[in-house]
Amino acid sequence: MNQCLYCYTPIRTKASWAAFFGLEAETLLCETCRSNLERLVPPLCGKCGRSLSKLDEKFYEDGICRDCTRWEENVQWQGILTRNRSVYQYNPFLKEVTAQFKYRGDYALGAVFASQLLVSFGSEFKGSLLVPIPLSKQRLYERGFNQADVLCQFIGNSVPALHRTNHEEKQSKRNRADRINRKENPFAVVSHFQKQIESVHITLVDDIYTTGSTVRYAAKALLDCGAQSVSSLTVARG
Ligand SMILES: [Zn+2]
Ligand SMILES: [Zn+2]
Repeated sequence: MNQCLYCYTPIRTKASWAAFFGLEAETLLCETCRSNLERLVPPLCGKCGRSLSKLDEKFYEDGICRDCTRWEENVQWQGILTRNRSVYQYNPFLKEVTAQFKYRGDYALGAVFASQLLVSFGSEFKGSLLVPIPLSKQRLYERGFNQADVLCQFIGNSVPALHRTNHEEKQSKRNRADRINRKENPFAVVSHFQKQIESVHITLVDDIYTTGSTVRYAAKALLDCGAQSVSSLTVARG
């Protein structure tokens, strides 16, 4: 008898080939926890992958949400991010799960997301190079692991092509204008990997897409060093 990775309720797992190979990762959760995960299904914003059915019609046009339109209207950010795709809606349950995964060091819990990340990567970004969003050295030291690295490991080979140029600041402390106009990029390409990213399609991996600012700065650093295009794949869309 296995236990739910999140709430530890005993669960009966059906013997199947997929489960045997660890592909049915959602079966790592009990039925109750599983039912709390909201998979993002079309219609989705063509840019950021948020659910359009949750938005009032006046907040999107031609399949693109207003947030994304504002990013694209800014010449500095136009076309920087090809698109983002996220697997789940960032609801209160997922917030708890990611907190346990990220801050309480429950490394194994990341496996819950493995199967759907694999499916999304296969259908949306197949053949591209995986690059995890890096943590600052200090954050890495505090947490002991980078959640984006762990998520990458479930998808395939990744290249740690980016590093943080300074300590991350809390995004919530910045307003939108600040985020958009901030000059200094908190990310830079690790010189050792520069050749590997040239003319390559890249998929950034992270746990959450919230404002889209993190993945855009990371994408900009990669494009400036010759990457062909940059998209992103996250577990949750905030
Ligand atoms: Zn559970
Ligand atoms: Zn959007």
